[in-house]
Amino acid sequence: MMYLKGAGVRWVALAGVLAAVEALGAAPAPVAAPIKPQIRPTRIYRTAVLRFDYLRDGTAPSLALIRDAIFTNPKSMARYYQAASFGSLDIQGEVFDIPPPAPLFGTGWTACWPATDEAPLNAAIAAGVPLRNYQQVVYVVHRPAGIPNCAGGVSSLGPMTFNLSIGPITLSVARLGVPFYLAGDFSQTTQSTLAHELGHSLGVTFHANSYMCNDGQFLSQNFTSCTHYAYGDLFQVMGLRTQMSLFSSPIAERLGWLPQSAIIQGQSMGTYRLYAYGDPIPASGTSARALKIMLPTPVPFRTVTGETPEVSELYFEFRRNVGFDYRLQRNIALAGGGNFTVPDTDGVIITGVVQGTTPGSYYTLLLPVQTIPNVAYGQNSASNPYLRMGQSIVIPLNGMRIEVVGIQTAATPHWIDVRISRP
Ligand SMILES: [Zn+2]
Repeated sequence: MMYLKGAGVRWVALAGVLAAVEALGAAPAPVAAPIKPQIRPTRIYRTAVLRFDYLRDGTAPSLALIRDAIFTNPKSMARYYQAASFGSLDIQGEVFDIPPPAPLFGTGWTACWPATDEAPLNAAIAAGVPLRNYQQVVYVVHRPAGIPNCAGGVSSLGPMTFNLSIGPITLSVARLGVPFYLAGDFSQTTQSTLAHELGHSLGVTFHANSYMCNDGQFLSQNFTSCTHYAYGDLFQVMGLRTQMSLFSSPIAERLGWLPQSAIIQGQSMGTYRLYAYGDPIPASGTSARALKIMLPTPVPFRTVTGETPEVSELYFEFRRNVGFDYRLQRNIALAGGGNFTVPDTDGVIITGVVQGTTPGSYYTLLLPVQTIPNVAYGQNSASNPYLRMGQSIVIPLNGMRIEVVGIQTAATPHWIDVRISRP
């Protein structure tokens, strides 16, 4: 498989910038975070939730419960997406009960979901749902528990056009087939499954991976000491989301959610101040939520299938235990019994961006600075990935050192200072 490397000329120029700044001997003075946040219009995302109660056994989630969980509860899907999109996206809509279309539970796909989308969408039209008023449809399918090989959720990758009884309609479709709980801890509800599916509907075509090296080297070039996990980013909704829930900054940037004023372009030596990622961006002042470094020399890694694509950008976030990132506890089960408890979340997590095979496509990798040995479930080794106060990494092939040189958590606003230097 071919992976695009992008414009080498630009990287050469970037390398020149880095060298020039270093030659000037620039002292690592704290850099004032940008700048004036851009005012972005809030996009209203009209969503029709269609309940298909195939069982009719009296145990389907009520329309009121579904409405609360998706639109109105303080931990609803709508509130989650308001936070995750930095106020860019507002999910609004209604919940409808739709008589389920036949045929029902057959084999394979049709045991899990309506066999086609046309049948349930036409059933919704017949029930009076004004589908043309919506951009998103969510099926909540009440079906028997324990059907083999049924995913909790499935969705379209962006909008699709369906030829329906009233003509062609373009919609994104997410299907939710698991029991539907009211919001508690966000991570412990099946709403995180719906949040994940809506992420696909909104255009994220991949699952967030992780890449862990256990030889003490960040992004080690000794591939045998590293493990690539599909789906292994525990810190965002497009991965396993066991540790935190928001979308990581490279995805939020590409979805148009994270304003450019909130992204520091770390293209020269210096010290950069990041504010807590999960805190709302204020109308003025302290807005920086991510530090982005385009690597002069992309760094190869090895995938689970043995390919060696390259990490071309790194993003740094100060992720804290706040808002939808909050978790009550962070105990990680160990293989020999007992738990590892993640000590605190006062550090920076690092996400790599890998260019995809088609123009503009990409995917992301959580890149832990350290890993937890002997975990019962391999992906959870990345549960403690933080670069903490006083710690540093060196980016292979690029001769750049990244170090956390300051932190404030006892007073607001919470921030962390990250220094880029030459070792
Ligand atoms: Zn998925």
